[in-house]
Amino acid sequence: DTSVSLSPPAIRVRPLTCTETQRGDRRVVHSLGDGTVHVNAARHDATFGFSTVFDAGASQETVFEGSGMRQLVELAIDGFSCTVFAFGQTGSGKTYTLMGPLTQSETRPVAPGLLGLMQRSFACLLEQSRSRGSDLALSASYLEIYNEQVRDLLSPGPPSALPLRWSKTRGFYVENQLSVDFESLEAIADLLLQAGSQRRRTSAHALNRHSSRSHALLTIQVRSRAMRGARVSLPPTWVPQPSTCPSKQGTLCFVDLAGSERVKETGSSGELSVEANNINRSLLALGHCISLLAKPQGKRTHIPYRDSKLTRLLARSLGGSGITLMVACVSPSSRCLSETLSTLHYASRARKVTTRP
Ligand code: ADP
Ligand code: MG
Repeated sequence: DTSVSLSPPAIRVRPLTCTETQRGDRRVVHSLGDGTVHVNAARHDATFGFSTVFDAGASQETVFEGSGMRQLVELAIDGFSCTVFAFGQTGSGKTYTLMGPLTQSETRPVAPGLLGLMQRSFACLLEQSRSRGSDLALSASYLEIYNEQVRDLLSPGPPSALPLRWSKTRGFYVENQLSVDFESLEAIADLLLQAGSQRRRTSAHALNRHSSRSHALLTIQVRSRAMRGARVSLPPTWVPQPSTCPSKQGTLCFVDLAGSERVKETGSSGELSVEANNINRSLLALGHCISLLAKPQGKRTHIPYRDSKLTRLLARSLGGSGITLMVACVSPSSRCLSETLSTLHYASRARKVTTRP
């Protein structure tokens, strides 16, 4: 049987932040360590069951090992399209989970224990490439979707929109997207930092919280060529040609989704409300595709990937040929109650999707 379930979403409940503690927010989300999440507040008392729940005490390493991220990296090396996406409201811990805490100064690096799923995966890829002895080539591209425009975070200069196209052989793809080869952790870390500072530059024009107003997609292409000398059973006259070497090409995509909160109409106008509408529209499209995919195979109707740029770019990973890991992030604070409930409902729906890589 080739059908593989979309790994059931992992839930991560972050600790209360200092600010939340100082202003006296209550902790209303608890996990008892048995895969259940309890939401307990004045008029709400709900329990959700998931296969993987990380509570406030879970370390970054625990999340990496316990979420199945390591296996995902190995599947990417084996040639599968793998995607991990973090979702949840702004401030729920998506970026922390993927990248760790953002450094205050570029001169002081993050403590290794706090590094996120991305850096741990890069380390794992590079380690595997060494231990497998095969020729593994790694390259990265980094895109963001902002106001329904796809922008290249690696290209120098002001951000410009790139066309998103479709072809029979490639599916949806972004035209003229930059791709950078890398061979070391430093190189890929620099790449992220460089793209990060570029995003920060644009944020000055837009908003302080720009990064959470866009969806960011980092894709690592993993091309592996079989080892020379591996084809021992071939006739002696066979001369290996580079083009005849069997090769595999997998991808590992990290998606940091924009915050899922409903933006209160108060004070949001003009640019702000356009952003909010676009975010909500694409997250809604994603949720819609997920709930259609969650229907039993025979009852499925057409999946509307074309409804948003986000769902087009994620079509391959959601729609059957990829393997997707979702991490739903929630805040434990009483103030975030309704958003937390909606994230948990969203994650529950995603549990039923199956894909066939
Ligand atoms: P998001 O990307 O979802 O908007 P962030 O990842 O930026 O949220 O997290 C919001 C704040 O909470 C940040 O200050 C971050 O450092 C902190 N935080 C998030 N998750 C954790 C965690 N598991 N442990 C400690 N601090 C966390
Ligand atoms: Mg973020």
